[in-house]
Amino acid sequence: MSKIRVAIWNEYRHEREAGPVGEYIRQFYPHGIHRYLAEHLAAEDLSIRTASLDEPDQGLDDERLQSTDVLVWWGHCAHEEVKEELVEKIRQRILAGMGLIVLHSGHYSRIFRRMMGTACRLRWREAGERERLWTVAPAHPIAQSVPETFVIPNHEMYGEPFDLPQDGRIIFMSWFEGGNVFRSGVAFERDRGRIFYFSPGHETFPVYHDKVIQQILKNAIRWAAPENYVPDRITPQPDPPEPIRTENPLKGLDTSFLHKA
Ligand code: ZN
Repeated sequence: MSKIRVAIWNEYRHEREAGPVGEYIRQFYPHGIHRYLAEHLAAEDLSIRTASLDEPDQGLDDERLQSTDVLVWWGHCAHEEVKEELVEKIRQRILAGMGLIVLHSGHYSRIFRRMMGTACRLRWREAGERERLWTVAPAHPIAQSVPETFVIPNHEMYGEPFDLPQDGRIIFMSWFEGGNVFRSGVAFERDRGRIFYFSPGHETFPVYHDKVIQQILKNAIRWAAPENYVPDRITPQPDPPEPIRTENPLKGLDTSFLHKA
């Protein structure tokens, strides 16, 4: 069995901040969220590499992108630094079959907004409140071995209205101590690619230390892995599956002007 090639991309700025907040975050993620996840999601069927914004080519050169089956994305304060050229390359890879897992504040990343086509705005409050998640699609592969309900004791609130397109399959929903509700796990398809948004993961709480959260991320990676790629999306038009017997009413007329790019 060939392994699923996973790239965990992290903006990796908050974990390197000087001062007490950076120090506080480093007690949970001393080498960054990306390396923590790479270590704790390790499994027989996964081949995991990490990448971050300040590496050459913003961590994802062409070779690495071409050899990634599932891209995991964590970003927050530097979304606009991710180059348009890279966003477009990632988009093309997703349409050809690469999976994308967008975590927490990645809801506002350029690649997620591009793939959704909506504003992706939401309500938020950083009060450190109790979040209760509910598994609302228990038969979905992402929900396998996940309890019907579970709690994150302290988290940043992300709440509705969340401006997502309506074609997402809701897998998890959250309730917060302050009364808000949120679609916290939503799955999408875009052409050949599968995308999963999962909101837990604010950097000042050890959310990724939670075994249930880790199980969900592993499930999501396996679900999003492509069964087969389309090596080149621009393939010649195939012959029609049925013989065409009707007469084209424009036959004999010059219609080339209709086909100019
Ligand atoms: Zn956050």
